[in-house]
Amino acid sequence: DRLRLDDKVAYITGGGQGIGRAFAHALGEAGAKVAVVDLVLAKAEAVARELSLKGIKSIALAADVSKPEDVQRIVDTIIARWGTIDIACNNAGINMNSASEDTSLEEWDKTFNVNLRGLFLCCQAAGRIMLNQGYGKIINTASMASLIVPHPQKQLAYNASKAGVVKLTQTLGTEWIDRGVKVNCISPGIVDTPLIHSPELQPLVQRWLADIPAARLARVTDLQAAVVYLASEASDYMTGHNLVIEGGQSLW
Ligand code: NAD
Repeated sequence: DRLRLDDKVAYITGGGQGIGRAFAHALGEAGAKVAVVDLVLAKAEAVARELSLKGIKSIALAADVSKPEDVQRIVDTIIARWGTIDIACNNAGINMNSASEDTSLEEWDKTFNVNLRGLFLCCQAAGRIMLNQGYGKIINTASMASLIVPHPQKQLAYNASKAGVVKLTQTLGTEWIDRGVKVNCISPGIVDTPLIHSPELQPLVQRWLADIPAARLARVTDLQAAVVYLASEASDYMTGHNLVIEGGQSLW
């Protein structure tokens, strides 16, 4: 079965909750060993425990992906533990929220440090291992916001950083494919997470719903098969691709 990931070694950043947690489960259920990486160790540990209860081999690691020493440490730890990295899921991302005219340099830098510098550091550190072994799958989490402006306010740094994720993915994907390393990204639409359940966000959620041909928000389960596909041999001819999963929202 070309979609199985048996004996593959994977890591997922931002794996402590939300989309990353769902990706960790999906990769593990497909057979991979999974290193769950998060800024908050307790969250990574909780997810690693969930995986262990399902019989999936997993470890929890703390790292701030925007720090080169943290990224190198997680790569070294995974190599020491499991000998290789076959699948790198670079998913950690943040979304800050101020009007463009009020966006501080701190907010701009923080967003880019996590969403783009972090991705560069992870792709480079994991990529070196993969190029060396002539095999690897890198899957980055971008966003529908890389293509369209899904809501017109307060997303300048986020939208710009996610467009950067797609171009980084395209560039690495073409540069490395002849050495066996495939680099793709997934762009979710608006995903139904606890984050958007607050009462004050409901008017905005209603507006989003009106813009989604699928007439509902994405669920993390809508995204899980995509990460397995991009991590598996079945997608070996794909690279630099932006797999958009948004219920048709970017087409409307
Ligand atoms: P989330 O906020 O629920 O989870 C993100 C996780 O990343 C958290 O556990 C957090 O601790 C961790 N994290 C934050 N900064 C980090 C850092 N510097 N180093 C390591 N870990 C860090 O987010 P989510 O909704 O699951 O989103 C995951 C990814 O999907 C992000 O890149 C986000 O931009 C993208 N995305 C989300 C949506 C959505 O609607 N939720 C839509 C499109 C794209």
